[in-house]
Amino acid sequence: MTVRPPLAMLAELTHRCPLSCPYCSNPLDLARKETELSTEEWAGAFRQAADLGVLHLHLSGGEPASRRDLEELVATARGAGLYTNLITSGIGLTERRLRALDEAGLDHVQLSLQGTDAAMADRIGGYRGGFDRKMQVAGWIAEIGFPLTLNAVVHRQNLHQLPEALDMAVRMGARRIEVAIVQFHGWAMQNRAALMPTRAQAEEARRIVEEARKRLLGTLVIDFVPADYHEDFPKSCMGGWGSTGLNIAPDGTVLPCHAAQTIPHLSFDSVRDRPLREIWYNGAAFNAYRGYDWMPEPCRSCDRKQIDHGGCRCQALALAGDAGATDPVCARSPRHAELRAKADAFAAGSDETLTYRSFAPAEPA
Ligand code: SF4
Ligand code: SF4
Repeated sequence: MTVRPPLAMLAELTHRCPLSCPYCSNPLDLARKETELSTEEWAGAFRQAADLGVLHLHLSGGEPASRRDLEELVATARGAGLYTNLITSGIGLTERRLRALDEAGLDHVQLSLQGTDAAMADRIGGYRGGFDRKMQVAGWIAEIGFPLTLNAVVHRQNLHQLPEALDMAVRMGARRIEVAIVQFHGWAMQNRAALMPTRAQAEEARRIVEEARKRLLGTLVIDFVPADYHEDFPKSCMGGWGSTGLNIAPDGTVLPCHAAQTIPHLSFDSVRDRPLREIWYNGAAFNAYRGYDWMPEPCRSCDRKQIDHGGCRCQALALAGDAGATDPVCARSPRHAELRAKADAFAAGSDETLTYRSFAPAEPA
């Protein structure tokens, strides 16, 4: 197959974050501050990415504002010709920092939403005062004039707030909102019983989004990530493994997707040791699931393989014990019925106890 250059790169600048969201997709084994790439190393990676053909750079984490050199990193990325998008909880951003980011050339901000009021948002994010702070940051974002996208992660405990989240996005002047029903990777796997929506909730969320899309046409764009476990077909994970995007973890490990390190037989390269171009085209992990040759049946002869690429490899490993298997979310997978039953059992639970993300995995916050 012909491998094209990547369009987007996600730079996970740090795993440090003041929040402790129980659905955080970061790995259980978080990268410590001492292992993070330096300012110069990130700058080198951004220049290499631009040379490789990357157009969009997503600056994420953890909380990217935990990096004191964020403004410098944005300026370097912008100087390399990359479109820069900051994905943030807002915590750690002051008006002064936002104005400095504007001067550095930041193009776009994505602000996460854990709930639509302080009681919900602070409980889910595990950070008292976080909601009020976020609202203040949203005000500065509007004042400066950054184009804004809201990221609302919804689940069994806050799905009733979805209509209000859509109204909030309009009031805040956001151009776009991503309504993502929680996906179960990383820390979120530990919280499936507390967060899994019921099938009825998942269907109601879709109905609310479809109604709002018509009502808010021309005002707000709404992206929707459905409840994976209740679907009949899987997501097109990363638009196809090694086809459109790549991630760099805080320590410089280059990944075909955010959760790829959960697949134990893959070996990954670091930007510290090998040029990004070589990693993209020749890296073992990138070539492991590229194209269609690796596919088992029923994917190999399926009419949808170019649409969803067989689903998510990390999810296939987590749910089927084999990263090369058909994603069990797919109704054509022999494991689909088992997954459905599991999803309904998780959703029927009444235990709302959350295991918060922390640097010490065994201890709930
Ligand atoms: S999901 Fe929550 S804890 Fe995880 S990085 Fe984002 S804001 Fe931080
Ligand atoms: S069988 Fe494979 S390619 Fe076909 S819809 Fe299911 S996951 Fe997608």
